[in-house]
Amino acid sequence: MSFQIAIDGPAGAGKSTVAKRVAAALGFIYVDTGAMYRAMGLYFLDRGVDTDDEESVNASLDGAEVTLDIIDGNQVVFLNGQDVNGRIRTEEAGMMASKTSAYAKNRQKLVDTQQKIAATQNVVMDGRDIGTVVLPDAPLKIYLTASVQTRADRRYKELIAKGQEADLAAIARDIEQRDYQDMHRENSPLRRADDAILVDSSDMDIDEVVNTIVTYAKEKM
Ligand code: C5P
Repeated sequence: MSFQIAIDGPAGAGKSTVAKRVAAALGFIYVDTGAMYRAMGLYFLDRGVDTDDEESVNASLDGAEVTLDIIDGNQVVFLNGQDVNGRIRTEEAGMMASKTSAYAKNRQKLVDTQQKIAATQNVVMDGRDIGTVVLPDAPLKIYLTASVQTRADRRYKELIAKGQEADLAAIARDIEQRDYQDMHRENSPLRRADDAILVDSSDMDIDEVVNTIVTYAKEKM
């Protein structure tokens, strides 16, 4: 039987960095479900699908196949057989993912794929609905969060380190808006599962967060 660790939480809480390291520490596969929503977002963009119209989105779904592979230890996302790992990280793909992840049929398609992956392999899966919808029976669920100010500071420093311009107040506003959207949408809103352990990383560094989760996992296994 496989062992699953579900990590949910708002944008910018450090889920993917933490999930990747927890997976490496335990020898599990890391599944970044946000990347799958982003790949679908690209598909709609490439196809010129009118994403304001849910019917058009639904009608186009059968033409898209999103698959994951592990290459040199990293997750690679394929859209209809093409490696889209680079393309999914754009702002445009992120916006498209956020918009179209509200549609139930799009979600169901990806949830099916995620459940199949987790049925046969030990996984650390991160997203917004992993503990509530995708893997409701996961033996370990983590809700990873941090204050808006902390998440904005981290994002600000990332951008500055990349030599890009950044406006701290604007970043904080964007984070608040995205939190609101993710928590108030009709389908699979972001919320802490009743049996999820709350980890607030505001005053913790990455090592502490990773060690906390790995310790919980070892206890449960
Ligand atoms: O985590 P990431 O920013 O890559 O996710 C992109 C978008 O996909 C998010 O804004 C969120 O709306 C959506 N998403 C989701 N459910 C998941 C993972 C991501 O709705 N399990």
